[in-house]
Amino acid sequence: MKDFQLFSPTELEEALDLLTRHCGQMRILAGGTDLLIRMRDGQVQPETVLDLTRISALHFLRQDSNAIEIGPLITHTEVLCSPLLNQETPLLVQACRTIGGWQIRNRGTIGGNLCNASPAGDAVPPLYVLAAECTLASRRGRRVLPIQAFFHGPGQTVLAPDELLVGIQFPSPQPTPLQFFEKIGQRKALAISKVNMAFLGWTDQEGRFQKVRIALGAVAPTVVRAVRTEDYLVGKRPTADVIQAASDMIETEVQPIGDIRSTEQYRREVSGELLRLGLAKCQKEEHG
Ligand SMILES: Cc1cc2nc3c(=O)[nH]c(=O)nc-3n(C[C@H](O)[C@H](O)[C@H](O)COP(=O)(O)OP(=O)(O)OC[C@H]3O[C@@H](n4cnc5c(N)ncnc54)[C@H](O)[C@@H]3O)c2cc1C
Repeated sequence: MKDFQLFSPTELEEALDLLTRHCGQMRILAGGTDLLIRMRDGQVQPETVLDLTRISALHFLRQDSNAIEIGPLITHTEVLCSPLLNQETPLLVQACRTIGGWQIRNRGTIGGNLCNASPAGDAVPPLYVLAAECTLASRRGRRVLPIQAFFHGPGQTVLAPDELLVGIQFPSPQPTPLQFFEKIGQRKALAISKVNMAFLGWTDQEGRFQKVRIALGAVAPTVVRAVRTEDYLVGKRPTADVIQAASDMIETEVQPIGDIRSTEQYRREVSGELLRLGLAKCQKEEHG
């Protein structure tokens, strides 16, 4: 690895000053589970690295009236251990549980997962269906973007060279809806997703869906919503027939890419299967 100068500020303002001063030349380090590998392999060779890990203002998890706010330095393990997130957003907990092994989950952060902008990033689809917003900060000020506006394409975000991701926030999904995260990879554990899916569905007293959000990862350059299938489910109970029809529909709705991990056809079929599996599990939990 090429030599570099490391800065480890404790204050956010100092970090933003450093980014402005080294604009474009500096790399940002959170857990380092992605960046350090790319540096080791020579894919990136920064002159300077900004280590965020000592900035306590980026490390928080709180509920504020009806919103939940997550600091970018919250690790996947901290998501797993959070009573708040286990209660309110089990789908995000389920997603973080599937990320890497425990060493990766202990170091890897939510902010790093987003800023990596991998189409297969496992924390991203849950944040899509939770209608999360990202807060970005620089010396020029702050801006808040809906999560879908944060990504440009694979590995690309809208972050300017002098900007940091400083928070992720979303409304508490009350009353507790049906929700799940499912993923398929090469292996049962320690695998990058071939397809992943997050589902959030609010039902009425009779168990009919009032509102549904479905997001899929690894089927397109960025995470996508399955709007046609969401619309189909609204007004219906998740009976076996409805689940089957929704699964068939999502297979035709997604426009997957074929790559070294999977063919297009395989990704289509898996998309349908993940929806069927996730909804069937939710049904089983609800009815014991
Ligand atoms: C063995 C292994 C297995 C893995 N398995 C999975 C998996 O199953 N699922 C999955 O989704 N990912 C997986 N990953 C990828 C990675 O661990 C995760 O994406 C992790 O969340 C990255 O977080 P980090 O804090 O380590 O990021 P870092 O490596 O520190 O940073 C990642 C990128 O984000 C930028 N960045 C980080 N924080 C900020 C910020 N606040 N503002 C602006 N830019 C920022 C960095 O500059 C860098 O470009 C795996 C990685 C490894 C090595």
